[in-house]
Amino acid sequence: MEGVDSNILIYAFDKSSRFHVQSLEFIQEKTQTSQLAVTEFSLFEFYGVITDGRKIGMPLAPGEAWDVIRDFYEAQSFAVLPCTSACLRKVLENAERFSVKRNDIYDFLIATTFQEHETTTVYTLNTKDFKKFDFIQAVNPFSDISQTSDPRPRTTNPGYIPYGRQSISEQDVAAVCSVLRSDFLTQGPKVPAFEQAVAEYCGAKHAVAVNSATSALHIACLALGLGPEDWLWTSPITFVASANCGLYCGAKVDFVDIDPRTYNMSVSALEAKLAQAEQTGCLPKVVVPVHMCGQPCEMQAVHALSREYGFRIIEDASHAIGGRYKGEPVGNCRYSDITVFSFHPVKIITTGEGGMALTNDQGLAEKMALLRSHGITRDPTRMTGESDGPWYYQQIDLGFNYRMTDIQAALGLSQLQRLDAFVARRRELAQRYDELLPELPVVIPWQHPDGASAWHLYVIRLRADAGPATHRQVFETMRQNGIGVNLHYIPVHTQPYYREFGFKSGDFPEAERYYQEAVSLPLFPAMAEEEQDRVVGALKRFHPTEHTEGHG
Ligand SMILES: *Cc1c(COP(=O)(O)O)cnc(C)c1O
Repeated sequence: MEGVDSNILIYAFDKSSRFHVQSLEFIQEKTQTSQLAVTEFSLFEFYGVITDGRKIGMPLAPGEAWDVIRDFYEAQSFAVLPCTSACLRKVLENAERFSVKRNDIYDFLIATTFQEHETTTVYTLNTKDFKKFDFIQAVNPFSDISQTSDPRPRTTNPGYIPYGRQSISEQDVAAVCSVLRSDFLTQGPKVPAFEQAVAEYCGAKHAVAVNSATSALHIACLALGLGPEDWLWTSPITFVASANCGLYCGAKVDFVDIDPRTYNMSVSALEAKLAQAEQTGCLPKVVVPVHMCGQPCEMQAVHALSREYGFRIIEDASHAIGGRYKGEPVGNCRYSDITVFSFHPVKIITTGEGGMALTNDQGLAEKMALLRSHGITRDPTRMTGESDGPWYYQQIDLGFNYRMTDIQAALGLSQLQRLDAFVARRRELAQRYDELLPELPVVIPWQHPDGASAWHLYVIRLRADAGPATHRQVFETMRQNGIGVNLHYIPVHTQPYYREFGFKSGDFPEAERYYQEAVSLPLFPAMAEEEQDRVVGALKRFHPTEHTEGHG
């Protein structure tokens, strides 16, 4: 009998893991020739992870998880090794050998349970955990798997850790080069292929690729009929583009304060503001919830309010491709009219510059496609009057040149193949920050159980009592140490351009408080664990006196 650690079970279960296929194949192969054993403790770990929205793309409800666990108990090919009282005794007798940390005890319990049942080989991706025990041999069955990392070394400023960085593979390079060698650099086959691939990934009916998310937001607003005298509401904690798109249309812009836990637009603040706006007759025509850091907003609640108050919804999902809401991909527009993605290099996948608008409404899709390219159509059914001849086209609306090139779309298509792996790696690193940071007086990102973040950003908040001087000093010191911390975002209503409309400090207190405390830590798929340790170490040096051991 050979043992298998919970991490292989978890990866075999988690379709979004970059180890998924290998783990599944490994288990299938092994169980054909021998019996695999898991310990009961491994099943606790397995259960913990598969029900945890933070660690897995599609968490199960506890009831569903039990069905999966029961399959293990019943599978002929698995032996579930119980923890005997002899195992427990052995752990307690040896307790002084280990720092009394929960993980150490878990590891020891699992190892001794295997030993008690005469299982001395354990397959795991984390051989380090078992190296502490001389009675067990830990084998990584797929040590040849390369990381999701960038094949090219970082040439500029190798000691510097940026807050985000694109991952470009040789396959991406080849995809772009093949377009350069083809007939079309723009308006060829790659753009529709990329649109179709993203729409399929997200489960949306239509997708319109454009040259940036900013352009996508603009044509989304126009398609929904936003114009002068209308209101657009968004979150103050976002990039300025989420608000500017309203101004482009001549509409008026207002903001809804954030939820202090998620940093997304607060549903209760939205509800209160809508009730007030109904009284004064200035309800919004369009609301733009922003999935800040990649964490989905509470879209079902926003959607219910849209029914009650009659506004349209554009999801600004610039941070969130690859994320999930209530088990389904962000971008399926189940609770919105249009969803917008950005493919700027710091975002989850990139096309250099680029964006996309997704919708399930054919009329909106056609309108956005028209606006993307000058308002020009070659479709005779959409023209007024007769066609003059085969060269003929008509301008039937005032559009723009917001087109994406085939060069960009080829890069996007190639990047899309690694989207799940990128998000899985980001999640892994976020989890690692979660484990390393609680010793420090900082607030780590809280995750709503309905969502699975794409982890575009990992934002910590300094404790409220740290004060603005400390906040500023953290930025200065970290940057001096080559760590590219950043601040996402300066509340939009406090920008000089927006103050001209009458906004002032104090208008959105939660957003302003957030701004005084937030620090985005570096996070990108090719980030090495040593780099992450350097970030945490630099933060630790900042709080030398505040770190206390948890004596009982
Ligand atoms: C990046 C970003 C945008 C703009 O994206 P571009 O593709 O650079 O135009 C809009 N909204 C949010 C929230 C963003 O992060």
